[in-house]
Amino acid sequence: MSKLHILIIPYPVQGHVIPLMQLAQSLAKYGFKITFVNTESTRKSILNSLSGKNSLHDQIHLVSVLDESESGEDKNVPGKLSEAIFKIMPGKIEKLIEVTNVSEDERITCIIADQSLGWALELADRMGIKRAAFITAAAANLILGFNIPKLIHDGLIDNDGTPRIKDHTFQFEPTMPIMNTSDLLWTSMGNSTMQKIIFNMLVHNNKSVKSADWLICNSTYDLEPGAFKLAPEIVPIGPLLSNNSLESNALSLEAETLISSRESPDSLAGSFWPEDSTCLNWLDQQPLCSVVYVAFGSFTIFNETQFQELALGLELSNKPFLWVVRTNTLDTKSDIFLKKFEEKIGRQKGKIVSWAPQQKVLSHSSIGCFVSHCGWNSTIEAMSNGVPILCWPYFADQFMNQSYVCDIWKVGLGLKKGDNGFISCGEIKVKVEQLLGNDVFKKRAMQIKEMNMNSVKEGGKSHQNLINFIEWIKSS
Ligand code: UDP
Repeated sequence: MSKLHILIIPYPVQGHVIPLMQLAQSLAKYGFKITFVNTESTRKSILNSLSGKNSLHDQIHLVSVLDESESGEDKNVPGKLSEAIFKIMPGKIEKLIEVTNVSEDERITCIIADQSLGWALELADRMGIKRAAFITAAAANLILGFNIPKLIHDGLIDNDGTPRIKDHTFQFEPTMPIMNTSDLLWTSMGNSTMQKIIFNMLVHNNKSVKSADWLICNSTYDLEPGAFKLAPEIVPIGPLLSNNSLESNALSLEAETLISSRESPDSLAGSFWPEDSTCLNWLDQQPLCSVVYVAFGSFTIFNETQFQELALGLELSNKPFLWVVRTNTLDTKSDIFLKKFEEKIGRQKGKIVSWAPQQKVLSHSSIGCFVSHCGWNSTIEAMSNGVPILCWPYFADQFMNQSYVCDIWKVGLGLKKGDNGFISCGEIKVKVEQLLGNDVFKKRAMQIKEMNMNSVKEGGKSHQNLINFIEWIKSS
């Protein structure tokens, strides 16, 4: 019998591709055939970073629907990618489905689309295909989107999303993050044009997302009880990690997938850049729970002054550190500074890499804490490995995630900017000392790790939700 065929459509940026690829891997191991859609540039990046390790290539097909000139990735044209995602991609996907469905054996039976791509859910509906929306952020994010009419009604924001009262804090539920009108998903986006684009997209997406057959989310009931109480239609199946037991449990059900279990568990992890695994050997040489891991995801760009303050803060902290500095975050001046800094520090004290195998790093016993921008993937990965976080949010949902970490789960601390608008090296030193010097953060983080791991074990709630989701895909 031919395999059921699922089309997965991520928003083609790193933080969305990784969790959806992890879901694709889980589903492939349950015996589904997956077509995973990308832009040509992301498809190439993923394949390059794999260097031939893709153990599931028979089951997961990476397909490109936007070439590099269409997406603007050939000349790095700002804004062109998002325009192409909303204007060119829908037609290309429709064509892809039509062509694929000509063969009865290949017919696409389910579409799993990134929640931010409401058009994909509408397209599935029009074409009579089952559809699920996947939320790459916290469920709280969607609750915020659903509550936009209430925020307007309560006079907190205008019809276009602009805050009426700046720096006003509110909470939808006691176990949900404390939100601030100036740091909402859209109000923290910098300029007012971006603010309006994101706000309008959220308002539009609310309708298509609510009409999806399933709303699945990379989270757990334990992490966000309040959010799931307010919106029980959102179904957590997380944490989705490259080596979690959702996959190993799946292996016992499908004999043919046993072959995959002997392969590297993180093959086809969806990284756009090659991971520098030398840092794992370096971590082996460091004392238990001593290393400060510093990484800001795939987007964050540093101002030169701030970059130098961070470097000095790490030096002052006098702890071994592993710092991810992506090559595309540095200008020439920072590059020279970094080289000198590395020489001064010496390899033993600090290691700098351009992209780390983050999930493996966070699970390493020498990691003491994580200085993070609080992207949802980084947050949930830290929470699945018992690692306290020093929060350094920049934009979008990162402030909300910081509030989960500091106010709700109490597994981390925030950093305060000085009068000059920068976080000083002294502030970094003090907060690293506080985080590593107080066992309470580590104990809480370990409790959360245990809850997360229990939820993906057989009998766990996320595991059961995934099984139910799979049964639904299989049902005609
Ligand atoms: N990541 C990684 N290596 C790095 C830095 C990040 O593999 O050196 C991964 C990380 O594990 C996470 C993703 O990149 O899965 C970043 O997603 P997140 O939501 O944290 O941040 P974003 O990049 O979307 O801002």
